[in-house]
Amino acid sequence: MDRFVIAIDGPSGTGKSTVAKHLARQLRAGYLDTGAMYRIVTLAILRAGVDPADEAAVADHLPLVQFHSPTDPDRQQHDLDGDDVTAQIRGGDVTLAVTPVSANPAVREWLMERQQQLAHTGRMVVEGRDIGTVIAPDATLKVYLTADESERARRRHRQNGAVNVPAAPNDLDAVRADLNRRDTVDSGRATAPLRAADDAIHLDSSDLTADQVVEQILAFAAERGIN
Ligand code: C5P
Repeated sequence: MDRFVIAIDGPSGTGKSTVAKHLARQLRAGYLDTGAMYRIVTLAILRAGVDPADEAAVADHLPLVQFHSPTDPDRQQHDLDGDDVTAQIRGGDVTLAVTPVSANPAVREWLMERQQQLAHTGRMVVEGRDIGTVIAPDATLKVYLTADESERARRRHRQNGAVNVPAAPNDLDAVRADLNRRDTVDSGRATAPLRAADDAIHLDSSDLTADQVVEQILAFAAERGIN
């Protein structure tokens, strides 16, 4: 199949990025991290000194934000205004401020067109919160990835340490509290809340390795003619 979209949605810390990247490599497909797009806009807002909670001021600043989104799963470098901000967008300041920025309807609308266009460029694995519901309701395969809370906190804690994220919460309880804070707001917001599409396959990754999750998704994909 020359063209497909595999949508990988779910709450924070379920292993979406790891799984989506592996999947894209296995299928020789592109990979789009929509969370990184919200994070890069948030960093631009913070750098400009705009209050992330001021919806109108954030909306006014959007035309000045310029960035490129990588779609190669092996080259996920994110640049803003000529700086490599790949590590910075995972930092504590951005992780806190991305919640109000991503709940802002003007931001979602502004990113939606770009996300829809990139999602439909060929063989694509797209990761986020609203891919199956809003960005690609026509996706060939939709997966909603979950994992129990303590496992999600453990994974994110390990990941923060591994990539040396600046100013990230570094004890397990703080990581868990931060995941809960984000998921509660992401699920409760009015525009494009975190939600499984009606036709999504639910996959609980708590007791599975990333490779096992990828294997399962590849099997579902093959049933739909994707290989
Ligand atoms: O996936 P990641 O944790 O990097 O996403 C950062 C934040 O961006 C999420 O907590 C959520 O608020 C927002 N997001 C979103 N819709 C998406 C992807 C991410 O609202 N499709």
